[in-house]
Amino acid sequence: MSFPDRKKKAAAGAKAAGVNALLVTHLPDVRYLCGFTGSNAALVLAGSRAVLFTDGRYTAQAKAEARGTRVVIAKKPAVTAACEWLEAAKVRRCGFDAAHTTVAALDGMRKAVSGKVRRGMFQPTEPLVAAMREVKDAEEIARIRKAAALGCSLFDGMLEFLDPGMTEMAVAAELEHRARLAGAEAMSFETIVASGLRSSMPHGHATMTKLPKSGFLTLDFGVVLAGYMSDMTRTVHLGKARAGEREVYDSVLEAQEAAVAKVAPGVVTAEIDEAARSVLRRAKLAKYFSHSTGHGVGLEIHEGPRLAAKQTQKLEEGMVITIEPGVYLPGRFGVRIEDMVLVTSKGGEVLTPSVKAWIEL
Ligand code: ZN
Ligand code: ZN
Repeated sequence: MSFPDRKKKAAAGAKAAGVNALLVTHLPDVRYLCGFTGSNAALVLAGSRAVLFTDGRYTAQAKAEARGTRVVIAKKPAVTAACEWLEAAKVRRCGFDAAHTTVAALDGMRKAVSGKVRRGMFQPTEPLVAAMREVKDAEEIARIRKAAALGCSLFDGMLEFLDPGMTEMAVAAELEHRARLAGAEAMSFETIVASGLRSSMPHGHATMTKLPKSGFLTLDFGVVLAGYMSDMTRTVHLGKARAGEREVYDSVLEAQEAAVAKVAPGVVTAEIDEAARSVLRRAKLAKYFSHSTGHGVGLEIHEGPRLAAKQTQKLEEGMVITIEPGVYLPGRFGVRIEDMVLVTSKGGEVLTPSVKAWIEL
């Protein structure tokens, strides 16, 4: 979908929500709608009009990136300038994204317009743009594919680098160094390297702890390419497995594959979660699976849809989700396996095909 089509669709969504305009301040949404990647922006969509407010640092960049959108270089906060524009343009009901607007920001928006129009001017609307972003178009899918493929090749390359005795920090540093050399704009999030006992922490960031001679190592990381993120987790074993480790790993793998197999358009996300959870329940491990099964990925690392118990949303063709069950045994070890999966017309396509079978280094 082109930027003009995205803007048109969002403006139509605003109209359907009963407002005359939409004030977009969440930066990934701004980027999605008009292409601008700067760190200060407010985008107004009012009918067929679209105006991007930013500051003097971005004069050239905004014009180049947000072609087709009017750019205003504001001398005051971008949001203030946008609100003043709305009043001057005679907009009297403007939607905003409550999920990304602080109480202080809303107060500032209200103060930016005069008392006579303030009442009812700003209306919280459903996260319209977030909902649009859940279903990816061909261009976005191509970018996500590239990011996911880079993630896989980095993981595959790291297998030869890993050695007991090196620190988790050294593992993260090497991975991130290789990622940047391969063209990654950034990592999608702070790289998770959790070894030995620390693998029992679902989100163990790299520390100066040394990799054990025998034990698990969980690597959860992602790269950003052309704005789009990848996200994958693999858990490998250093040295010979101790009693029970292999069984837990195989159960997590079975749960992960059961959930992946369930992916198809029309399937309720809670059912995907249940597919993973039921395997772990049978193995008496479900109580150690302490988080949800997955999330959407795109311009942000965590987007809709959410794959968790009680979620009623259905998968749609073009969504890109993660499937990442894990088991964390307190004081012992943990295992997580995560793939990115594209929802296709027929089912699910795994975008992160790095090996998932037991790896002993
Ligand atoms: Zn992850
Ligand atoms: Zn994830």
